[in-house]
Amino acid sequence: MNYIGIDLGTTFSAVAHLGPQGQPITIPNAEGELTTPSVVLFESDDSAIVGREARRAALVEPGNVAEDVKRYMGEESYPKLLRGRSISPINISAIILKKLLQDTEARLGPIDGAVLTVPAYFDENRRQATAAAAHSAGLKLIGIINEPTAAALAHAFRSYTTPEGGVADIVAAGGQLPEISVVYDLGGGTFDVTVLRAVGHDLTVLATAGDVQLGGRDWDRRLFDHLADMFVREHGGDPRDDALSRQQLESTAENVKKDLSRRDHTMFAVNHAGKTMRGELTRAQFEEMTADLLFRTESRLSRALRDAGINWGDVDDVLAVGGSTRMPQVQAMLARVTGMTADASISPDEAVAHGAAIHAAVCVANSGRTELPEETVCVDEAEDILPAKDPDPVPPAVSDEPPTELERLATAAGTPQADPPAGRSPLDELAEALRGGTTRRPADPTPAKHLDTTSIDNEQREEFLTWLGTELAALIGSINTTSVNAHTLGVVAETQSGRLLVSPLISRNTPLPVRETKCYATVIDNQERVTVKIVEGESSEAEDCLLVGTCIIKSLPPGLPKGSPIVITFNYDAGGRLHVQAVHLASGSWAETFIRRGDGVDAARVHMNKEILTKFKVS
Ligand code: AMP
Repeated sequence: MNYIGIDLGTTFSAVAHLGPQGQPITIPNAEGELTTPSVVLFESDDSAIVGREARRAALVEPGNVAEDVKRYMGEESYPKLLRGRSISPINISAIILKKLLQDTEARLGPIDGAVLTVPAYFDENRRQATAAAAHSAGLKLIGIINEPTAAALAHAFRSYTTPEGGVADIVAAGGQLPEISVVYDLGGGTFDVTVLRAVGHDLTVLATAGDVQLGGRDWDRRLFDHLADMFVREHGGDPRDDALSRQQLESTAENVKKDLSRRDHTMFAVNHAGKTMRGELTRAQFEEMTADLLFRTESRLSRALRDAGINWGDVDDVLAVGGSTRMPQVQAMLARVTGMTADASISPDEAVAHGAAIHAAVCVANSGRTELPEETVCVDEAEDILPAKDPDPVPPAVSDEPPTELERLATAAGTPQADPPAGRSPLDELAEALRGGTTRRPADPTPAKHLDTTSIDNEQREEFLTWLGTELAALIGSINTTSVNAHTLGVVAETQSGRLLVSPLISRNTPLPVRETKCYATVIDNQERVTVKIVEGESSEAEDCLLVGTCIIKSLPPGLPKGSPIVITFNYDAGGRLHVQAVHLASGSWAETFIRRGDGVDAARVHMNKEILTKFKVS
């Protein structure tokens, strides 16, 4: 029985599983490395190379190389053409995952299930895209866990077990287990901060904050521009204008950054158009030019603490995760702000994958405990509902304006694309298949077509628990991680001026599970149906939020006056499943929808991707 955890990082990915004594072990790739650069070289129209070789190739043939794909997850296409084609981030990620899966299977044999990690601050759209990539790569996805929670789990797990592989009595160990931990996770492309409370084997996320567009790459970028500007001043030409010089300079910038983590000054050389510039840079200069980036992480750190309702005096432990926490400026800032030395005792590159491996075991041990609800009612048209009191207590008005972008999206999403014509290369097919595909949830009424995590049957579970042994199986089964929702969830409502505003039901950082109910009202006399548009985001403007689902009451009784009450209930469970119910109390008419991770991608389309990817050679 092989269950693995995968940290699909912006710059590096890692895979881990639980060893025979229950200890998480990183699984090396085919090249023998513990981490694999998340870089894809499209070598030909039917083959790709992933990893270090692809990274090197970026220096010589940048037009065929995809990097930093995670930053674009959830978007339609990767911003650069690859071999002249536009490929979706889902498909590029699927190629990376295919390489990780292949290499892992070569060492362990067939993989029965995998847990994937995502930044805590990823919104629903990006999570769905990640799930779609996993399915396309042929992975049996058994769960998704937030990266900081995985890292905290990896750290906490060491207190649950003894170095010999036994189970520690943490009750007897008393105060040894930190109670409140802060995970500061600065990777290559994303930043997350999470505050957790550990009580026994229960890990509860108290708050999370972050920035999905902030990571080591931004520090590189500052150096890159600094060096390019220096070159322009010295020689006139600009290395940014030439693809090859640019790529080489990007690599130089990252190396200079890493050197400055070890030394307080370093030398560099920049080549462009037959000219060379040599120079020296100090750590102090680098820290000065990136101070605002560091400050952005510091302010998110404060926000997470504020949201958790605690101050630094309450924090027992600070965990540094992600390669960028090796920068001395990060460690110094953490020491200054927290008054503690950050714990980086598990390699910052492996902690997340280790936690994911533990979570995979927890998912298997706890499988079959919760039943998924069956019935789903989805949207086929759009119409607004109006809050009775919230946010605007004045009487309702009807908007004659044409449908908004959000309304159009609610009906237009899921429009099928034509099947790719026969006789094309796998890369052509891949370029045409599943373009992002997840920007909005498809209006697909057939729940069977939706993606979901693979379920574990009883036999598999029993076999795995036997393999773990009684003590370890009991420990794994008792681990409980409880999360919060990173983004506010609400419904779109219309004000009397006709504006579409978001009425929040579950605000960000609410502990899960949670149930919230609010009363709304119909917009017009004789309204026949009510559409509840469920959105995610912090803005009060509907257009700025992400539409994650819709549910519709199709059969309101005739002759209803406007302002008739509609009660909406959001039920968000600990596994990240949102159940929304809308009820017209007087008549008993109602509708409901279940939103699950991965629901936003049409499974048929992902299946097609999977077929194409089997024809695509990945090494
Ligand atoms: P991760 O996504 O966690 O693998 O982090 C990768 C990021 O860590 C990249 O931006 C790397 O440049 C950065 N990184 C790795 N090692 C170092 C180092 N010694 N000093 C500074 N940044 C580093």
